Amino acid sequence: MLSLTHWIDGQPQAARNGGWRAVHAPADTREYARLADGDEADVEAAVQAATRAWPAWSSLRGSERAAWLERLASALESRLEAFAQAESRDGGKPIRLARQIEIPRAIANLRFFAHAATQIGSEAHHGEAGLNYTLRQPLGAVATISPWNLPLYLFTWKIAPALAAGNTVVAKPSEVTPLTATMLGELAAEIGFPAGVLNIVHGTGPRVGEPLVLHPRIKAVSFTGSTGVGQRIAALAGPQLKKISLELGGKNPTLVFADSDWRNQLDTLVRSAFQNSGQICLCGSRLLVERAIYDEFREAFSARAAALRVGDPADEATDLGPLVSQAHHDKVTACIARARIEGGRFLLGGEASARGGWFVEPVLIEGLGPDSASNREEIFGPVATLQAFDDDAQALALANAGDYGLAAMIWTRDLDRAHRMAARLRAGIVWINTWLMRDLRTPFGGMGRSGLGREGGMEAMRFFTEARNVCIATG
Ligand code: NAD
Repeated sequence: MLSLTHWIDGQPQAARNGGWRAVHAPADTREYARLADGDEADVEAAVQAATRAWPAWSSLRGSERAAWLERLASALESRLEAFAQAESRDGGKPIRLARQIEIPRAIANLRFFAHAATQIGSEAHHGEAGLNYTLRQPLGAVATISPWNLPLYLFTWKIAPALAAGNTVVAKPSEVTPLTATMLGELAAEIGFPAGVLNIVHGTGPRVGEPLVLHPRIKAVSFTGSTGVGQRIAALAGPQLKKISLELGGKNPTLVFADSDWRNQLDTLVRSAFQNSGQICLCGSRLLVERAIYDEFREAFSARAAALRVGDPADEATDLGPLVSQAHHDKVTACIARARIEGGRFLLGGEASARGGWFVEPVLIEGLGPDSASNREEIFGPVATLQAFDDDAQALALANAGDYGLAAMIWTRDLDRAHRMAARLRAGIVWINTWLMRDLRTPFGGMGRSGLGREGGMEAMRFFTEARNVCIATG
């Protein structure tokens, strides 16, 4: 049995309270590791370590911090296969996804922000009132809190800009998928990463996440997770006027127009609904299809989705693994039952999986309107709905129905329409004739119930720094 510890001040540490919690492998639901079940005392130790490490880390040149991030990226690259295996086992995600997309992206995150550390500049303003220049200074010790669906990918997406900008970090990975973050802590220690610069504390949201958010020495909190927890974090951080960035849930529409090349793009369309068993905040769970092609699309899409191979995540051929946990499995199956009660017609799936465990086969439902709970609330599983529209106005109204605003996908050959729609869809990210194509320089985030603030590129560097204007009298 593996023991996964905190990494505080460059050292592996058990929880000060002596507690451990079970970590399960979704493929067979068995407990395969135990995790330090931290609390406030561990948070305190980690914040102290981060605070001690900050003066030296923040005084390094950008290029020196970049070199550390590069070293960490290279070390991770040299262990890519071990990390991919670990990610697949821990979260039940298909090994192909972990190996080809997620761990490579974690490496890219570290490299991208290493470059940012050497490239960030700041503004100067003159010609109106004196000469002004802006200093962008690191904040101090900051917290990152990340979810289970893309464990190392999102963990690095947060720690990399925080470190690049000159902050020290206390990171809380999800207690559901703690393995690769722990391995990264170990790797950082192995390459001699300065102690206390990156600290990892494990445990639940209420016992570790909340004390971290509330800690007066934590200057900012970057959170990715559910809308409910994001609201809780905002309420806790508000009275201290602490900087927060919230990347939350989604209920994203995919608009398919009759003129699009959808027949040749079915693989991408199916992937955009079901990748990682729908456990990606950017999945298009509401398919809105122009009525002229609705019947044909429904048949072709159902057939392609039915051909997805659900099975052992360790198998190279597997498209969809199990869901991440018993609790999440139960939540998703309850949403499926609710869709039935709401009057949804099931075109695909909906029965308990013959594989047992936490598997859920792809589900496709029609006959539910924009006001149904199934079309309004995030399910975060392999569950998609189909609705028909007659014209652009109706497509837009259906797409913008609901309270989330993370991503929207438009499939059309009509560029005029694509740009018109892109400007009017309520979403922080719009993809036209593609899905999940990411340039790390672009702003990333949502509106409404999907969050507050933007990450990515300079947005993240700005979040993790304080701007200070200096004005000099001239003339
Ligand atoms: P979650 O909100 O349950 O947990 C996320 C993290 O917050 C975990 O580390 C958890 O331990 C911690 N946490 C829980 N309660 C807390 C509290 N009271 N205070 C502080 N921290 C707390 O989310 P999840 O189930 O791990 O992830 C799935 C959710 O994440 C989905 O809603 C999904 O849409 C969202 N998500 C959003 C994005 C995005 O970029 N917008 C990306 C991935 C996932």
